[in-house]
Amino acid sequence: MLIFFIMPSKKLYIKTFGCQMNVYDSERIAHLLAARDYHPVEDPDEADLVFLNTCSVREKPEQKVYSTLGRLRALKRKKSKLIIGIGGCMAQQEGETFLRRFPHVDFVVGTKEISRIGELLDELEVYGRRGLAANLSGRVDPYVRLPFFLPASKVVAFVSIMQGCDNFCSFCIVPYVRGREVSRPSREVVEEIRSLAGQGVKEVTLLGQNVNSYGQTSAGEMDFVGLLGAVQEIPGVERLRFTTSHPKDLSPSLIRTFGKFPKLCEHIHLPLQSGSARILQRMNRKYSPEEYLEKIHDLRRSCPGISITSDMIVGFPGEKEEDFRASMEMIAKIGFDDLFSFKYSDRPGTRAARFDEKVPEEIGQRRLAELQTLQRMITQEKNKAWEEKEAEVLVEGPSKAHPQENTGRTRTNHIVNFPRENLAPGAMVRVRIQRVYAHSLRGEIV
Ligand code: SAM
Ligand code: SF4
Repeated sequence: MLIFFIMPSKKLYIKTFGCQMNVYDSERIAHLLAARDYHPVEDPDEADLVFLNTCSVREKPEQKVYSTLGRLRALKRKKSKLIIGIGGCMAQQEGETFLRRFPHVDFVVGTKEISRIGELLDELEVYGRRGLAANLSGRVDPYVRLPFFLPASKVVAFVSIMQGCDNFCSFCIVPYVRGREVSRPSREVVEEIRSLAGQGVKEVTLLGQNVNSYGQTSAGEMDFVGLLGAVQEIPGVERLRFTTSHPKDLSPSLIRTFGKFPKLCEHIHLPLQSGSARILQRMNRKYSPEEYLEKIHDLRRSCPGISITSDMIVGFPGEKEEDFRASMEMIAKIGFDDLFSFKYSDRPGTRAARFDEKVPEEIGQRRLAELQTLQRMITQEKNKAWEEKEAEVLVEGPSKAHPQENTGRTRTNHIVNFPRENLAPGAMVRVRIQRVYAHSLRGEIV
């Protein structure tokens, strides 16, 4: 008689801190680990493996990681077999230190070594050895190349087209923890999107720290406009987006693609960071406020109604009241649809960390609050203009907060909720907007 032993599947809890790049990486990590029979759970207490995908762009997400690690220490005391892994930007930066400081951490994997997670787990499970893999090589980490299968209900997907960054904005840690800029071959990107479209994906966002410079460091590779053109031709993909764009590399030909490529959605995220010429220079951003305004003007001429969002930093070292006023004026003049704003945070190892004239905490706080009040008014005003208008919405599925409702996005990237009518994710519907809120719109199917 044959006896089969069915091993119960193992449970994985991933906590993701930080940006879209980390969200993308976490999805891939879950996929890699699914091949080792790990299945995602929502509660760390249930997990056999807890993985923290960390962020070091500002101090706040770092502190959150340290406090989560504290809670995990207590959990491991109760569950000695629990495996704890750390990845992302802090893992890259701290490496060995993490293992030394936190004896309950079993492995640390850097931003360019995700494909080695299996190896690290083998070391641990077979030999009981805690492991570290954190080389910042100049190649694309092969994990992005593995065939990727999305859950059937997912109709929007992110596709990494490049890794790293060469810009060295003086406040930013990214080039130090994600390495030099390296583009994926366009052939590979197109193949991946074809496969995603075959799985029912309708909307693709091309992802990179500065997508506008795609292909520039790879001999014979097409440029970003060329890549957009190639993706635009893939059957099944109905919407195309990209993030993030650096203003200095936003070329006239890229601006012209808005309004020219029908699948390219009418939205761009274009981080401004400051409205003061002097501060932009100290930030090493390589554009002036005037040049930025000109690009906004060209974008709006090429694509009337385009939605524009941005990032701003207040309290950068040396930011005087008049610099802050210049930022406020730019915000008022441009009228961003939405804005992510941050108080400057010293990042050890960056150039700005060595600048003097640090802005006192309470002044930074006050400026941030003032800026956010202004933007809230602008966003409200902009959203109000949607009332009684119709918009094309791609249905993504039931809303998380109100499962009896559907949620989706307009081409301009506004979230729209509306009553459910047995719609499958992936349906494209027209919705009349009836109410507007700070971060979403609400309507009814026309
Ligand atoms: N590559 C993108 C770009 O150029 O905008 C994203 C970089 S970063 C992950 C996202 C945002 O975090 C930046 O646009 C900036 O506004 C903010 N940021 C980065 N470093 C910061 C720091 N040291 N303090 C405060 N905000 C920071
Ligand atoms: Fe950081 Fe600047 Fe690179 Fe963006 S472009 S990741 S802000 S260094």
